[in-house]
Amino acid sequence: MKTSRSFVLVCTVLLSFLAPSLRAQLSPELTSWKWAALRESGTPEAAVLELCREIDARYAKLGWKKSRCSDFPFKIFGWSVENRPLVYWDAPTEKVSDKLTLLQCGIHGDEVTAIPMCLIMLGEVFDRKRELPAGLGFVVQPLLNPDGFLAPKVQRPNARGVDLNRNFSTPEWEKEALAFWSSKDRKDPRKFPGNSAASEPEVLAIVEFIRSRQPQKIISIHTPLGFLELDSKGDRDTVRRAKFLAINMVENAKNLNFKSYGIWPGSLGNYAGVHLKIPVYTMELPPGTSLRAKMHHWDSYGFSLWRAIQFDLDSGVFRED
Ligand SMILES: [Zn+2]
Repeated sequence: MKTSRSFVLVCTVLLSFLAPSLRAQLSPELTSWKWAALRESGTPEAAVLELCREIDARYAKLGWKKSRCSDFPFKIFGWSVENRPLVYWDAPTEKVSDKLTLLQCGIHGDEVTAIPMCLIMLGEVFDRKRELPAGLGFVVQPLLNPDGFLAPKVQRPNARGVDLNRNFSTPEWEKEALAFWSSKDRKDPRKFPGNSAASEPEVLAIVEFIRSRQPQKIISIHTPLGFLELDSKGDRDTVRRAKFLAINMVENAKNLNFKSYGIWPGSLGNYAGVHLKIPVYTMELPPGTSLRAKMHHWDSYGFSLWRAIQFDLDSGVFRED
């Protein structure tokens, strides 16, 4: 076991030193071999480190400065189709049962400026520039579709061509998902929901994570439509408090309208917000992928996000202590 771990580590390091052009030629076989070997090796730290190296390479291609991905002690909650790790970071809290906000980014791999929103917020909480109020929990999943974001060319669906945000097992999925895709999405291949509900390992891992951690709210970052949407069903008071927060988030953001975009079969908003009754806030950032756009998004929406993390949905109160 020890030999195979060292072998994988040496190969990974060698791969990272290959000239980008040569690396591109050797892909995708080498990429898939590398990730399968890293997953098999049983060294989660090495897999996370390599994921962060790939994220930084993608950032460089986008003209962005390095992410701080490798500074954070990520844990793994699942694996993608191509065997990249699905990672999360738990803010230190007093109790695991603390009322949890789950912040998710990158379910659509080509919505690139969503991912830094998660990593920057994580960095600020990690550095304790922002103090998490006592009794509240905060978890970040910065990249739910690593295969899409790290594909040779960024792509919305996962490595099997499935739109993960259409693949959650919502009631009536069998009846509706492919019919919706044919009619509303005009069979756009970027929005293919899959041949069956919850067929993708990324979706199964997200579902299991939500089941085991029971967040009180989920915030999911997308681009480029520029609005905030809330999916919330349940008792009247919870829905009322959930709406109160949505209005507050809009007020604390620059140019973000509160909008109802509709319910889609297989979406996270439908699955968690309507079916599991966990309010889901979908924040659609405006377009733009430049370094300037990325920083503008953080300046315009970072505070609104932080207010949402400080909000206790059970009591309807913003906590600042
Ligand atoms: Zn999206």
